[in-house]
Amino acid sequence: MAKTYSVAVLKGDGIGPEVTEAAVKVLEAIQDTSNLKLNFLYGEAGYHCIPEYGTNLPEVTVALLKKTDACVKGPMTTPEEPGAPVSAAVKIRKKFNLYANVRPCRSYPNVDALRSDIDLVVVRENTEGMYSGVEYKVSPGVSVAMRIITQKASSLVAEYAFKLAEKRRKHLTYVHKANILRVTDGVFNDAVKAAAKNHPDVTVDDVHIDAMAMHLVKKPETYDVIVTTNLFGDVISDEAAQVTGSLGLAAGANIGDSYGMFEPVHGSAPKYTGMNRVNPTATIMAVQMMMDYLGEKEAAAKIENAVMQVLKEGKVRTKDLGGSSTTSEMSDAIASKVKAL
Ligand code: NAD
Repeated sequence: MAKTYSVAVLKGDGIGPEVTEAAVKVLEAIQDTSNLKLNFLYGEAGYHCIPEYGTNLPEVTVALLKKTDACVKGPMTTPEEPGAPVSAAVKIRKKFNLYANVRPCRSYPNVDALRSDIDLVVVRENTEGMYSGVEYKVSPGVSVAMRIITQKASSLVAEYAFKLAEKRRKHLTYVHKANILRVTDGVFNDAVKAAAKNHPDVTVDDVHIDAMAMHLVKKPETYDVIVTTNLFGDVISDEAAQVTGSLGLAAGANIGDSYGMFEPVHGSAPKYTGMNRVNPTATIMAVQMMMDYLGEKEAAAKIENAVMQVLKEGKVRTKDLGGSSTTSEMSDAIASKVKAL
């Protein structure tokens, strides 16, 4: 009997619908070629729902997510005015305690990267830090944001990162700014050092965030697993994505103890909405991570191989990779490869 999964699909805003449809097309190809049944449950979330629901994450969508095994999420536009709804992605991460944001960055075949041998994963704490959402004006011209760092959340993400390092090259780098943020990064660093005691086979070192920004350009191939707090992780994972070729290739998993949400690292790129020109690979690699999370290793390997082959052949390439193919041509090529494997 076919193994069945319920998968929530939140298309998001801007280029979100195009890239999530591309990823669903690849999942349908997986379904057609394996003994898997995927029930897609479509939900509303993002900027476009605010006029109708008064929020970017309606309760009906939260209820839908609770019924599913995992979620594919397109990027969503986040309004920047004070008082506007906070990011739907941040809300989902907190609501489901998806404490580890896992963002692999590696050199791909036939893609211009700073080096051809980059293979690192940024593991970003995903529920607190500068994203705690506690920010206010103290007096005219003076405002404060709370960078909340707890031992509990830091330990959870550190443990996740060590377990990942154990499955990889057994090297973990923790990134911080404890020379300035002594109290908050003190808590984070202590949690990492405590977790290190449970994983003596992993080599550990640490780098300040400003130095890390430089090292990612200078010697990115020397890193394996990088673990850090929320904002630092957001910034360096975008940097690492560009160092390996394009933000259009970088996928992210948001992992908790009982749920996972999978999305591209990039945002909703509103200026490209509906143009069928952006690279869908980041979202396709996000669903590859979802299949791996669901324990469907063969399906995950098939998607990865299909992406690698399409990139290696170089016949179908979106504009960010120096080609002229459309979003749908790229996803058709990857879906066809999945069927051929
Ligand atoms: P962005 O990632 O949307 O776009 C920055 C640039 O990256 C684009 O102009 C484009 O040149 C390139 N790019 C992004 N995706 C690409 C793709 N698939 N293929 C090729 N090139 C691609 O970042 P932004 O402009 O800072 O943010 C736009 C909106 O997205 C904002 O409202 C922001 O809050 C939101 N955002 C959402 C998420 C999320 O939902 N998780 C993440 C980041 C940003």
